[in-house]
Amino acid sequence: MVNILVLAENNQDGDITKPSKQVLMTARNIADDLKGKVAALIIGANLDSAKIQGQLGLCGVEKIILANDKSLEAYNSDVYMKIFIKIVKDQNPDFLFGVNSLYSQDLFPAASFHTSSGLVMDCTDVKLEGTSLLITKTMYSNKVIAKLKFNEEHRPKLVTFRPNTLMPQNVEPKISEVITEAVNIDQAALKQKIKELVKSKSKETSLTEAPIVISGGRAMGNWDSYKILFETAEIIGAAVGASRAAVDSGYAPHSMQVGQTGKTVSPQLYIACGISGAIQHFAGMGSSKVIVAINKDPNAPIFKKCDYGIVDDLFKVVPILKEELKKLFGK
Ligand SMILES: Cc1cc2nc3c(=O)[nH]c(=O)nc-3n(C[C@H](O)[C@H](O)[C@H](O)COP(=O)(O)OP(=O)(O)OC[C@H]3O[C@@H](n4cnc5c(N)ncnc54)[C@H](O)[C@@H]3O)c2cc1C
Repeated sequence: MVNILVLAENNQDGDITKPSKQVLMTARNIADDLKGKVAALIIGANLDSAKIQGQLGLCGVEKIILANDKSLEAYNSDVYMKIFIKIVKDQNPDFLFGVNSLYSQDLFPAASFHTSSGLVMDCTDVKLEGTSLLITKTMYSNKVIAKLKFNEEHRPKLVTFRPNTLMPQNVEPKISEVITEAVNIDQAALKQKIKELVKSKSKETSLTEAPIVISGGRAMGNWDSYKILFETAEIIGAAVGASRAAVDSGYAPHSMQVGQTGKTVSPQLYIACGISGAIQHFAGMGSSKVIVAINKDPNAPIFKKCDYGIVDDLFKVVPILKEELKKLFGK
C-alpha cells in the first residue's frame, strides 16, 4: 500500500489554500488508484483543528498531523525544518507532495537532503505509469516540457507542484483522524532567531494563488501608479504583480516580482501592463491560461506571446477597463 504525505498550507484566515487543496486531491486520486492512504501535515500556530479537519476531510485526507504551537507563529526556517524533517522521517511516506511556494522551496530541499531521496520541484502535472509517478515540468523558461520519473529505490519521492496547474478529479470525502505532534524545540540550539517582522505593503500571499494577476512593469513609473492596478484587481479578485525592472527601479517591492528571479504564477488570466515581455518575465507567467498585454509599442515582444493585445497607453486603458469591470461585476 502506498502512503502519500502532503505538506498543506493555510492562509491568514486559517483556511487551507486552494493550491494545497489541489495537491491534496491529486494525492487522493493517486492513492485511490494505488489503494493507498493520504496524510496531511500542517505546521503553525493557533491552528483551528476542527476547521482543518472539516476542510481536509473534503479533500479525501485520512490522517492529519498537526504541529501546532505558539512558538511557530513567525516562520523560522531553522525551527520549521527540524519539525518537518522529524515528521517526514517518522511517517516515512512513499511520496511527499507540496505546493511550490516559498515555504516548500525552503523545506523540501532540506527534507530531500536529510532523507537522501529525489526531489522534483515546480511540476505542472503528475500521472501514474503503473505504480510509478510520471511528472511533467517546464524547463528553460517554459521552452521545454520535461517528463521525469524517480529512481524507484529511494523514498520518499518528493514533488512540489506549481499553483493552479493541477486538475484533480472529484474525491470522496473522508473522516480524518487528527494527530497532534508535540513541538519540542531547544531554543538555545537554534541558529536563526527572528528579531523583527516588517509587514509587506503588497498583498503578497495571494499572488501565487490568485486566479487573476494584473502586473505593472517599468512603465508604471512609481509606486503611486500601482493604485489603479490595485483598484482594478479588487473588483475582480486579482492579485497585483510587477516586473523586475519595476522592482529594481524601486516602484514595487520584490515580493511582487514575477519572473525567473521572482514568483512563478499560473493564473487563469494574466494582464501585463507596460511590460515588454522579456524571457525572464515570461519564465514566471508563461503558463498562465490567458495572457492579455497592454503596451503602447506595437513591436513589444509581449505581443508575440499574448492571447489578446491592446496597443495603447496603459494609463488610458486601465481606467476604462476598471470602469467596465465595475459595471460588469456591479461594484
Ligand atoms: C538573470 C536575470 C533574471 C531576471 N529575472 C527577471 C524576473 O524575475 N522578472 C522580470 O520581470 N524580469 C527579469 N529580468 C529582467 C528582464 O530581462 C527585463 O529587463 C524586465 O522584465 C523588463 O521589465 P519591463 O518589461 O517592465 O521593462 P521594459 O523592458 O523597459 O518594458 C517597458 C514596456 O512598457 C511599455 N510602455 C512604456 N510606457 C507605457 C505606457 N504608458 N503604456 C503602455 N506601455 C508602456 C514600453 O513600450 C515597454 O515595452 C531578469 C534579467 C536577468 C538577466
